[in-house]
Amino acid sequence: MKPTLEYIRKKYPLFNQWYFGGKLPDVPIIMSNAATFLGKVDYTKKRTLHGIENCNFKMRFSNRYDISEDELIDIIIHEMIHLYILYFNINDSSPHGQVFRKMMNDINARFGRHITISHKAQKGSMMNEQRSMERIAKSEELKKHYICIAELSNGEKAVVQAASTRLYELNRKLPHYYDIKSIRWYGSISPFWNKYPNSITPKLYHISADDLNRELLEMVEINL
Ligand SMILES: [Zn+2]
Repeated sequence: MKPTLEYIRKKYPLFNQWYFGGKLPDVPIIMSNAATFLGKVDYTKKRTLHGIENCNFKMRFSNRYDISEDELIDIIIHEMIHLYILYFNINDSSPHGQVFRKMMNDINARFGRHITISHKAQKGSMMNEQRSMERIAKSEELKKHYICIAELSNGEKAVVQAASTRLYELNRKLPHYYDIKSIRWYGSISPFWNKYPNSITPKLYHISADDLNRELLEMVEINL
């Protein structure tokens, strides 16, 4: 059978009850004619007060290939396991890591399913799915950070991460708010900076000398 939106929409709430205790949210299901994957979960990473959170979940399925109903059911549950891990922000070693495998093996054992991490139905589809999920997982961590390091008149150093559209504005405004000896701007992709807000106002933050010296090794100075 060719996967259809109607079929997946009908099964989703049932599988949610049977295999996931009804804990999964309702998410948009999108069909396409994709050649590179059978199913995948799309999402974005967003910075919040509680750290980085996963959001905007979408499940995507391809209707390109003719597969058996059992294969399709296993693919749907496979994607639902991904959704469960992402939705509850559970740390796993990789997209098909230890947590994923444990959940998969549990469902297979308890319900006699044959969910795998390497679908036979279409060669390479799971590798593409995994790559796509790894890309999303890294998208926030490897974000570009624009960091201002200000040396204050008393010799202390303080930092602010600037929203990319506010570099010039903050550079101009900061000396009006602080007693600043010098200002330097840097670019960095280090996840260390994820915990600093993307500022649009000229507010400096404390940083320890150890942290700053370590981070500086991987930062690139920007000339404004
Ligand atoms: Zn997968």
